Amino acid sequence: MMPVGFGYKHLALFLQGLKTESHLRPGMTTPCWNWQKYRDKRGYGQLKAGRVWWIHRLAYVLYVGPIPAAGDIHHRCHNQGCANPDHLEAMPANTHAGLSNDHRWHNGSDGGDGDDGGGDSPY
Ligand SMILES: [Zn+2]
Repeated sequence: MMPVGFGYKHLALFLQGLKTESHLRPGMTTPCWNWQKYRDKRGYGQLKAGRVWWIHRLAYVLYVGPIPAAGDIHHRCHNQGCANPDHLEAMPANTHAGLSNDHRWHNGSDGGDGDDGGGDSPY
């Protein structure tokens, strides 16, 4: 379904901005759909049309259904710029925060976004 304020023009821009990756990421059975346009400093794709749409949240709503209240969309492929609904999973924000920290830690220092302090995770 299409979110309120989102029309076919937006849908066309959304689809034009995606490019299917040529390889499969670990644990995935379909390739990532990489966002080619604007990304925020954390790597999350944004479609700027009228307002800012987060492309993974958009993809979830369009292809899967409404995001539960207080829900985050987790990227099972760990590719923040991916909009493949097959790689997206809705989960409570607090569960997601735990996963993100864990993921950051295992990734080591990536230059980050400067607000996580780096290296102070107990995990
Ligand atoms: Zn993906």
